[in-house]
Amino acid sequence: MGEPILKLKGVSRSFGDFVAVDRVSLNIRSGSITGLIGPNGAGKSTLFNVIAGDLAPSAGRVVFDEQDISGFASERRFAAGLGRTFQIPRPFKRMSVLENVMLAPLDQDGEGLLAAVLGRARIRAQEAAIRKRALEVLDFVTLHPLADQPAGKISGGQMKLLELARVLMGDPKLILLDEPAAGVNPALTEVLIGKIEELNRDGKTFLIIEHDMDFVMRHCDPVIALAEGCVIFEGTAAEAQSNPVLLDVYLGAPVDA
Ligand code: ADP
Ligand code: MG
Repeated sequence: MGEPILKLKGVSRSFGDFVAVDRVSLNIRSGSITGLIGPNGAGKSTLFNVIAGDLAPSAGRVVFDEQDISGFASERRFAAGLGRTFQIPRPFKRMSVLENVMLAPLDQDGEGLLAAVLGRARIRAQEAAIRKRALEVLDFVTLHPLADQPAGKISGGQMKLLELARVLMGDPKLILLDEPAAGVNPALTEVLIGKIEELNRDGKTFLIIEHDMDFVMRHCDPVIALAEGCVIFEGTAAEAQSNPVLLDVYLGAPVDA
């Protein structure tokens, strides 16, 4: 297992007086499938938002691939190789599955000021290349047959695969998945797991929030647990299951899965 690809240094995030993430310091090892667990409201999604640049931290630094990205906007983090999915997928529902994937924030010249300067032929060629890549990615996540369907018409599980497809357009080094198996039927969950493991063998690192302990036990190593905004455990999934502190935390708080 490699060096840390992601380092969090004293990361906090408050909402008013409420501290959702409280001085979290941790390293994510390159090449790992790391699980992030913890009861509802522990601050897991907030931590993802801070890592991905969708929320500014109240304090602390985020170092990705040896670069301090704390000040980067989410698009710049995506371009640097950091992709994330959302707990609740939010596709453009009236657009097709393919169009949703093509919208991943790449360095496209087809928009804005550059478009006025560049020739149309070049823009068309670039769009064709993006379309081709999007179709390849859809094929990989098994959604190619649904490419022309409106994204609002596909199942919840297929939306999670669509989110993964969007992330893969950026050729990420680190992929953050927020509850990928929640509300997904077992067959599609198996498809998703197969894709995660294939991508991981290709060298991609994963950080996965998941409540399903069976999923975590089978696929995640190491496991990090968060409670009330703080890291309370780091170890193997097996150690997590027999850890008395974790048991306490889970028994004392509502768990939604
Ligand atoms: P988890 O993903 O672990 O279930 P979240 O990170 O979603 O937890 O939320 C952690 C805490 O922060 C919760 O108490 C939640 O209500 C609060 N919280 C999250 N986002 C916001 C927000 N935008 N404004 C106010 N409070 C928030
Ligand atoms: Mg969450």
